[in-house]
Amino acid sequence: MNQKTELLVVSEARQRILDKIPVLDVQEISLDQAIGRYLAEPVQAQFAFPLFDNSAMDGFAIKAENTLEASRTTPVSLNVVADIPAGSLVNVEIQNGEAVRIMTGAAIPTGANAVVPVELTNFNFRQTVLSAPSQFLVYQPIQTGANIRRRGEDIPAGAVVLAKGQRIRPQDAGLMSMLGLSKINISRSPKIAILSSGDELLPAGAPLIPGKIYDANMSMLVGLVERTGAEAVNLGIVPDNPETVRQALQKAIDLNVDLILSSAGVSVGALDFIRNVLEQDGQLDFWRVNMRPGKPLAFGHYMSCPFIGLPGNPVSAFVGFEVFVRPAIIQMQGSLDFLRPSIRVQLEEEVRSDGRETFLRAIVTKKNGELVARLTGHQGSGNLLSLVQANALLLIPSGVKSLPSGGQVEAWLLDSFE
Ligand code: AMP
Ligand code: MG
Repeated sequence: MNQKTELLVVSEARQRILDKIPVLDVQEISLDQAIGRYLAEPVQAQFAFPLFDNSAMDGFAIKAENTLEASRTTPVSLNVVADIPAGSLVNVEIQNGEAVRIMTGAAIPTGANAVVPVELTNFNFRQTVLSAPSQFLVYQPIQTGANIRRRGEDIPAGAVVLAKGQRIRPQDAGLMSMLGLSKINISRSPKIAILSSGDELLPAGAPLIPGKIYDANMSMLVGLVERTGAEAVNLGIVPDNPETVRQALQKAIDLNVDLILSSAGVSVGALDFIRNVLEQDGQLDFWRVNMRPGKPLAFGHYMSCPFIGLPGNPVSAFVGFEVFVRPAIIQMQGSLDFLRPSIRVQLEEEVRSDGRETFLRAIVTKKNGELVARLTGHQGSGNLLSLVQANALLLIPSGVKSLPSGGQVEAWLLDSFE
């Protein structure tokens, strides 16, 4: 078969792209800019956490053995010898019969081996404005170690707490701050040029001209790119002629982008002028991928910049982005975790496919505790409304021509927070 029109399975086409996508360089940034970036190296704890033994409750630090005989009817009375608010260190060593008032997070004083919470005493006040009592009563035995958070019990010094390639979430930034980090090494954010090709396209806001249509793909692809954490560079609508295509590609090179993304102009007949331009100054492979929607896919390089040409129909462009482009952008940032997690759902209706690997637009809801899916209308690849009404793509494997109502299928959820 002609190499340019090979029919590839989806995973193979994706791998061929990923094989040609380099990981970007490393950059040091301050932690407050870290959310959504990818760690360029593992993060190790510089010290143990908690940093010191501290109280898990507002209460009194005591010697547990002093409370062995305590009960409702025979409470034990202890003398308060100091008051320790959070953030301070008090240099006392408590003796038998003594206690120290302590707030949550404050360091346990020497000699104490348990904390009795205020609720278990006759001094049931947390407010630090109230001065500590000179004595208080305990009504039950307190176990040794009770309500003490031990130094290092959460994180031993030197532990690897975050893996290389992980995308930084708010809780990860919190953990790194907790461990005293203020600067970290991440993979540089990719810059992705996007162009919409087609003589029929008008930008939003332009007067409608008979025979023309508005460009749907640009705003969608810009949004998809930005959600991956990359920077989108909008190169606008590029008419179907070699000169304008060359100018747009040259502009992408001048802007130093890491990937050029185009939509449309990759169907067999339409492809030639893009192919010619790319082949003069780079190289282009044109593949048919055994999938629906989104069979035609172009991949290559202009100069040395990777180029992915998605199909023009908006749903095909969206699915092509999900399947090929996001993985490429994620891999550029040093992560291999590029596939959406899938869930299993039950079909509420029979679905059909032509045997290609198929991505169907569906609504997934919960019914009687089960996740169930139904399609959002006709699955034409220009029907963007049916994608808008969907919250999931059902993944119908290749070779499967129909699945019965009640059957199980994998699905990608589209509307999780990203
Ligand atoms: P093509 O890949 O150029 O053959 O385009 C396939 C279909 O997608 C045609 O109906 C185009 O008009 C349509 N199309 C191409 N680009 C866009 C776009 N940016 N927005 C909406 N529809 C488009
Ligand atoms: Mg076209």
